[in-house]
Amino acid sequence: MIIVLKADVNTETPDVQRLVEFAESYPGVRTELHQIQGATRTLSELYLLGSTGVIPTEPFKEFACVERVVRITEKFRSIGRHGGELEAVGFDYNGIRISQDTFHLFPGLCAVDNRENLDTMFRLLGENGIQTARAGAYKPRTSPYDFQGYGAECLPYVFESAGKHGIRIVSMEITHESQIDELLEALRDSGNATGVMIQIGTRNAQNFELLKHVGQQTELPVLFKRGMGITLEESLNACEYVASGGNRRIVFCLRGMKTNLGDPHRNFVDFAHVPVVKRLTRLPVSIDPSHSVGSRAMAPDGLLDVFHVTAQGVIAGANMVLVDFHPKPEEALCDGPQALLAEELPRYIEDAKIVREAYLARLSRIASSPTG
Ligand code: PEP
Ligand code: MN
Repeated sequence: MIIVLKADVNTETPDVQRLVEFAESYPGVRTELHQIQGATRTLSELYLLGSTGVIPTEPFKEFACVERVVRITEKFRSIGRHGGELEAVGFDYNGIRISQDTFHLFPGLCAVDNRENLDTMFRLLGENGIQTARAGAYKPRTSPYDFQGYGAECLPYVFESAGKHGIRIVSMEITHESQIDELLEALRDSGNATGVMIQIGTRNAQNFELLKHVGQQTELPVLFKRGMGITLEESLNACEYVASGGNRRIVFCLRGMKTNLGDPHRNFVDFAHVPVVKRLTRLPVSIDPSHSVGSRAMAPDGLLDVFHVTAQGVIAGANMVLVDFHPKPEEALCDGPQALLAEELPRYIEDAKIVREAYLARLSRIASSPTG
């Protein structure tokens, strides 16, 4: 059961203390107080854990501090919306707000290959007003003989360059929990020049021990990529491992599903699930058009498939776009063939903006005339 407290209630007040004591007076029930950033305000929610099935909701509604009592019926206990009763939660990290209402592009290198290419990429982003990027240091590769990423070795120059060019968040995959400490140490050594969003790749979507570790640290937010060969429900359950560990600063990322039915795309584009994930969970939703399409194929209209697929996710309300760019794709050590080129960046930003504005225009039409 979740008890939503009224807006701006001070959780130190005697009324809230009495509420907690009352809840814990039921046998086998304990509580956890969570303060989270909602769409319009800071939300205080009291989670009742344990044997809550037989507890009546009515007595809790008598407390002056209580706005709503929500009985949890669905599986996604921490990330779920529970039939629309709970509002979406976003978060602020290193000066950037990410929620179901915001929109950010995270362009960058699939894998860091050398200092020069990385710095060129971040400089281009800075020059184009982008403060959020991707850059892979730890790469989980299909073959052990493929480039595995430079790991901790590249972090000092990645963070230094990010700071220099005004990049505030770098989305970066980890493949083992020991890398969390490597990231935190390198960030500290850089004087916190930037921030990191820990990326859980599709191959680790059900690596439950890794998910628990990532969830138990609350310093860095998490981008959770859906599993490529499991159902959406299984991916959302896996994402619960992160949230139930205590870290609620999570973005859920769609990146396509592995099946030959999506050929000639690398993965079957699943961006129709953007509104589904927004409805089922409180999380902001990202798309990854690069790993979905997997090539620089172009439609007869002159737009690359990556542009078209990005538009499909953005028109459906995606909050974040993780997209591969490379200033010299021929030098890329991972996924060069799907990378967009430096000269395509302004056009890509413009195209995404056109589609985002179209999405917002659609929303404002509904707001002014819900049924018309
Ligand atoms: C990536 O974003 O670099 C990546 C490997 O993606 P995915 O886990 O979706 O394959
Ligand atoms: Mn890649």
